[in-house]
Order: sequence, then C-alpha cells, then structure tokens
Amino acid sequence: MKIKSVSFVVSNTDHKKCPEDGLPEFAFIGRSNVGKSSLINLLTGNKKLAKTSSTPGKTQLINHFVINDQWYLVDLPGYGYAKVSKSARSNWEKFIADYLTNRKSLMNIFILLDSRLEPQKIDLEFINWCGEKQLPFVLVFTKIDKLSSSALQRNTSKFKKEMLKTWEEMPPVFTTSSISGFGNEPILNYIDQILEIC
Ligand code: GDP
Repeated sequence: MKIKSVSFVVSNTDHKKCPEDGLPEFAFIGRSNVGKSSLINLLTGNKKLAKTSSTPGKTQLINHFVINDQWYLVDLPGYGYAKVSKSARSNWEKFIADYLTNRKSLMNIFILLDSRLEPQKIDLEFINWCGEKQLPFVLVFTKIDKLSSSALQRNTSKFKKEMLKTWEEMPPVFTTSSISGFGNEPILNYIDQILEIC
C-alpha cells in the first residue's frame, strides 16, 4: 500500500465521539515505551504524526488519523504506566475496553511487544482479554534492531510458548524496527489485504 495522504481527525476518550462514517479502522496498542508512536510514524511516513514518549505532555487519548481517505489508523494510549494511580488505570481500562468492544468498524488490533523482553504478564493478560472478547489481533515485536537475530528468535519463541499454554494457535506475527524500517511493508500489506475484503 502506498500512503498518499494522512491527516489527524480527532482525539478523545469516548468511543461514542469517534468518527461515525464507518471507514474500516486499525488500532495500535502496547505498553508505554514499546515503540508505538515510532512505528506509526514509520508506517505513515510522517516523523511527527504520533507523539513519541519524549514529547512532553503526551496525552492519554484515542487518536484517529485518516489514511488515503480510506481507513483510520487509531493510536491508543499505552498501558502499563508504572506511575499511574490505580484509579487512573481503571479509568484507562474502561475507556479503552469500551472503545475496543463497541467499535464495529475495528478490523484489527496491532498489539505491540518489545522484542527485547521476556513475556510480560500485562501483555499476556491483554491478549487473553482480546481473545475472550473475540477481537481480531496480530502481534508486532518491535525494536528488533536492538538485539541479535538469535536473541530475537529466542524471545519470540518464548512468547509463543507462553501463549500456546492458553491458545490453540498463534495469530499472525510481525517484527519491526522503526530505525531500519524493517516490517513496514508487511504491515501495510496486511492492512491492504483486509481492506480488499471489507
Ligand atoms: P511509545 O511510548 O510506545 O509510543 O514509544 P516511542 O515510539 O515513543 O518509543 C520509545 C523509545 O524507544 C524512544 O526513545 C524511541 O526512539 C525508541 N524506539 C522506538 N522504536 C524503536 C526501534 O524500532 N528501534 C530502536 N532502536 N529504538 C526504538
């Protein structure tokens, strides 16, 4: 897929205020600092579209961007902030859960995982929750430039093993580097394939 146009549409915390034109949408989510903003900027070819962690005052909102006037890319707030209070976290959980479970035009969730880390409980919990809610998702291992191919292989296998304790099969898995651009095309092609059958 060629990205011809990208524009910001709206940010909010209420799924009822999200765009209502029914364009198919694809959401990106993961732990804070996983590399979500960098990946979104890579995919859209716009270095400043999503605010990276270094941006002061990065807000916790559902952000809609329209791509090629054809689909929405949805940047969801990162989960797992150590510093966030319990009540802020449950508020986060509620509005994200409401968005994810009510959004009929949501075609896929890209769940980002830091390829350098051991399987994280919070990621597995979120994945299992998506499973319970029957939400379509794929996994994206980020920052692969930061480790050797054998370490990447080892970490992804560990994650797979952990997931297969509760899942019968694995969803599609992507690996990316926002530094080298690796993984950009396969993700855009995956989105394209889904758009073709929409
Ligand atoms: P977010 O909080 O998930 O949106 O994460 P960011 O995109 O802001 O990235 C967090 C940090 O990781 C920043 O310092 C990025 O420069 C860095 N980062 C993100 N993606 C990559 C990557 O693919 N490779 C490397 N080496 N660093 C990355």
